[in-house]
Amino acid sequence: MADRILMFILDGVGDRAVRELDNKTPLQVADTPNLDHFAKIGENGLMDTIAPGIRPGSDTGHLALLGYDPYEVYTGRGPFEAAGAGLSLEAEDVAFRCNFATLKDGKVVDRRAGRIKEGRGELTEAIQKIKLDVDFEFKDTVEHRAVLMLKGEGLDGEVSDVDPHEKNVAFHEAVPLEDTKENKRTAKILNEFTEKCVEVLSNHPVNKEREERGKAPANVILPRGGGKVPHLEDIRSKHGLDAGAISGITLVRGVCSLAGMDIIDVEGATGGLDTDVDAVVSSCIDALEKHEFVLVNIKGCDLSGHDGLPEQKIDFIEKIDSSLEPLRGLEDTYVAITGDHSTPVTVKGHSGDPLPITIWGKDVRRDEVAEFNEISCSRGGLHRIRGEDVLNILKDLADRAEKFGA
Ligand code: ZN
Ligand code: ZN
Repeated sequence: MADRILMFILDGVGDRAVRELDNKTPLQVADTPNLDHFAKIGENGLMDTIAPGIRPGSDTGHLALLGYDPYEVYTGRGPFEAAGAGLSLEAEDVAFRCNFATLKDGKVVDRRAGRIKEGRGELTEAIQKIKLDVDFEFKDTVEHRAVLMLKGEGLDGEVSDVDPHEKNVAFHEAVPLEDTKENKRTAKILNEFTEKCVEVLSNHPVNKEREERGKAPANVILPRGGGKVPHLEDIRSKHGLDAGAISGITLVRGVCSLAGMDIIDVEGATGGLDTDVDAVVSSCIDALEKHEFVLVNIKGCDLSGHDGLPEQKIDFIEKIDSSLEPLRGLEDTYVAITGDHSTPVTVKGHSGDPLPITIWGKDVRRDEVAEFNEISCSRGGLHRIRGEDVLNILKDLADRAEKFGA
């Protein structure tokens, strides 16, 4: 029987030389006995998720790791957020990410409506009752975030953002970015939606109460990042794999769900630094019983990278490592541990720096690398590969690859 495949993604784990760490990376400084063990029994290298010097998003990065060409299939973040939030998307639909925000005297004064937590459900219900020229779905996700999906034919995703992306200015009127009938219609509907949201939300009891308590009312919705639902070939036909995914972040869940993977919920997997890595690892081992291929994404390192906090990143890497012990007991499984992109604390954003990768399993060639980090792995047998190679290499090891030629 063919073996199983596990891809373990440490989101944003890669870094650069950090001066206050004696010009080492957080991974080099962190104490990681489990990751180092896997490097020792495996083959190691560096991985450019998309291509050298290209800065991946978490969405395009995961697309590449699943073997899709992001330049071909990517239509924007909106559809992935919507799919990750559990909306059922169809090929003609157009999706947007949205914020609940605060409008005062015609200006957006808080793009996050005080990071609103209570009352979002009621506001969402009020928005769902709005009448538009098309069917739509609207769903609140985390804090001030929400997703909007316009459904049906004759729509497209090349329209500008309503979200002005800054404070103390009016929200923008959506305009078509490509001059087609579909984009014009979408922009018109989007503007109508925004206006009607202001009407419905301004006098809503939840907002009246927020104002009385001195909190920012959530009286406008700001759509952005529109895109038509991309066509991704189902991972079963593309790779012949029945697959599951574990991730605490909506965006990654959306990518995996649109690829036809089962999304596995794990209690305590938050996508934050407080995430329960033990629970993730134990669910991932269970999931390998049911699925031929499991992808796990753990977010935390990316957050510390964005915030520029090397010590926090080191602590979180050590937290992950201490939960990886049970992976040592995996049998009949080939495992890759890597990231989706670097998020260097010196950059405070994603960078094109390649990531360390280690691959192990029963008969994987063992190189001389003994530590899992950007520098040690660069001396390993995999040398430098691309994201789209990873699943192919794992499929080949697990005897799930087809021969090319006679
Ligand atoms: Zn990421
Ligand atoms: Zn990030």
